[in-house]
Amino acid sequence: MPPEVVVPSAVAPDSDQAPVKCAIVLFGPPGSGKGTQSQFLIKRLGIPQISTGDMLREHIRCGDDIGQAIEQRMRAGLLVPDELVNVLVAERLSQPDTGRGFILDGYPRTSAQGRVLIDLLDRNNAEAVVIHLLVDYNIIIARITGRRQCPKCGTLYNLLSRPPKAAGVCDLDGEELIIREDDREQVIRERLDSYERQTSPLIAFFRETGRKMYEVDASRVTPVALSERICELLDCAAWSGKQKKPGHSQDGSRS
Ligand code: AMP
Repeated sequence: MPPEVVVPSAVAPDSDQAPVKCAIVLFGPPGSGKGTQSQFLIKRLGIPQISTGDMLREHIRCGDDIGQAIEQRMRAGLLVPDELVNVLVAERLSQPDTGRGFILDGYPRTSAQGRVLIDLLDRNNAEAVVIHLLVDYNIIIARITGRRQCPKCGTLYNLLSRPPKAAGVCDLDGEELIIREDDREQVIRERLDSYERQTSPLIAFFRETGRKMYEVDASRVTPVALSERICELLDCAAWSGKQKKPGHSQDGSRS
């Protein structure tokens, strides 16, 4: 039986202050498993995932003005402008389903977004717990180049870890599987490069601004085992907030 996990809150239940929402920030390079871990957390905690990548892809799918403006950059593996992403996240956080907390997947990705996030957390009475997923880049490249998606129903496959029953076609509707444009090797290298240059400096930013941050080795464990570990860390974060004691990271100290 997996351990019971509650949505962490920084305020003890008997306090007369409004409980502080938990903003779980899944942080790590593309292909580190943020999307998969979000799905586990949604089921365990019943709070929504806010994936900026999914939101942006939806605009492209609709072909609206935003979608047309960002399509080329996304295809090339480049980040889209901060102002646009910040507005999308701010709007999403105003929706009522974020009332108990939320999972940020793929945001923030630049220092400018990090600063806006701090402001958004304050305005939304939320406290961040950053889960930093560490993965070797060679493993990421092997993982992402093996990804395939059904263009009709969206089901994701992986040639290494979750192959379709019949090569090249979707198990559910028989549609021919495709490689997402931004999953091609050259594009992945561009995305990893942009992660190094623009996103990884946020680690220092989270530290300097005193956020709770836990590092987890996401290279050598199964997705299920990783999710168990993340839930333990979230429990630890909740406990440390309520007891006003420092948290501890498993695979390293609280950063
Ligand atoms: P993801 O699905 O999170 O890997 O994101 C796919 C692509 O969407 C990225 O390569 C960027 O082009 C864009 N994107 C997603 N989130 C952000 C963000 N927070 N800031 C800028 N661009 C983003």
